[in-house]
Amino acid sequence: MTDQMTPKDPVERLAALRHEFGEHGGVNMSIEASTTFTVMEAGTMPEIFQGQLGPDDGGCYLYGRHFNPTVYVLGRQLAAMEGAQAGYCTGSGLGAISSALLGLLNQGDHVVASDTLYGGTWAMLAEFFPQKCGITTTFVDVNDSEAVAAACTDRTKVIYCESLSNPTLRVTNIPELAKVAHAYGAQLMVDNTFTPLAMTPLEHGADVVVHSLTKFVNGASDFIAGAVCGTTEFIGSLMDLHVGPLMILGPTMDPQVAHSISLRVPHLPIRMIEHARRAKLFADRLDQAGVKVGYPGLSTHPDYELFKTIGRSEYGFGGLLTIDAGSRERAEALMDDLQNTEGFGFMAVSLGYFDTLMSCSASSTSSELTDEALRQAGISPGLLRMSIGFTGSAEQRWSQLERALNRVGLL
Ligand SMILES: *Cc1c(COP(=O)(O)O)cnc(C)c1O
Repeated sequence: MTDQMTPKDPVERLAALRHEFGEHGGVNMSIEASTTFTVMEAGTMPEIFQGQLGPDDGGCYLYGRHFNPTVYVLGRQLAAMEGAQAGYCTGSGLGAISSALLGLLNQGDHVVASDTLYGGTWAMLAEFFPQKCGITTTFVDVNDSEAVAAACTDRTKVIYCESLSNPTLRVTNIPELAKVAHAYGAQLMVDNTFTPLAMTPLEHGADVVVHSLTKFVNGASDFIAGAVCGTTEFIGSLMDLHVGPLMILGPTMDPQVAHSISLRVPHLPIRMIEHARRAKLFADRLDQAGVKVGYPGLSTHPDYELFKTIGRSEYGFGGLLTIDAGSRERAEALMDDLQNTEGFGFMAVSLGYFDTLMSCSASSTSSELTDEALRQAGISPGLLRMSIGFTGSAEQRWSQLERALNRVGLL
């Protein structure tokens, strides 16, 4: 397909992908469960091994850690969604992030990263990489272009951010950040886990997009999974037999997992729209009632206009909102009530599940951050993050939320 023919909308790009039929003509693809693949002529083995005669060049697949056709299909779906040339999937989001970063960074290189990142990513950059391979990171407010530029050195190879910061839900100005990155010869890598479909960072100048598929894309909280999207050359380099992190570190996705997630991608637009519709309904009502609510779809949110400019608001403003309960004790009382009295949702980390999930970020998913880093990121101890589900009726859920807020004195 030529560039001119490539649809601009992620769901149109998904629909334009070749349909994968099952081995026996099934409407769903089959699972390629083999770890190794049969070479038909002995003489071709060396070329296949050197990657010169792959499945797209009239050769065949080689070995499952390298490349599996079922996993490849999910990679193509993610690439289509993101408008990337290529994509490949991993056993976890952190597997995708570490592989993509190590694909671009060598010993002694430098990263400029957002000061508000998923805890595991923060620990990777702040602690793991410096200790294990001498890659260092400076954390800044990535929407402060001057601070980003000031942090760049001649060893800066990557600028790293999340499309929507976790858990503070600030929107990253991707076009601006891409300009700064490219001016300093660095690549912009964006974690788009929070905003599949609603944001497509590559179209705004990002170079690499990573995902935890464990969240919205999967949607049922039953698999840990991740993906990397970028140019064909970059994804190919991650598979290199000598220095490709996907090949050498082995964060391989299982084909059974790829198959399951692949069948949920077609429902993702419908799910995202409903997550976002409910989150917006609750956020509007909470805001009107004077509760301290954070949601980028509120016109009072500092990044509302930015989201509308760079996002695709037909898929909504995301499924997450935050409530600042003022203290950790009150946030915990609210969660206890919502789960154990009202049955509104579950106290659990993670997001993108069909039911509502609630956690206190400072003492859970952001607990890797130091107290100073938490303060710098604006994550207060009473900040409750909710991933709004779509089970039950919206009015039933609102009544539950309203009663619980009343009981803990927040309404
Ligand atoms: C969950 C999450 C990750 C890590 O993904 P895993 O699949 O748990 O490895 C990375 N980034 C963000 C924004 C996440 O929410």
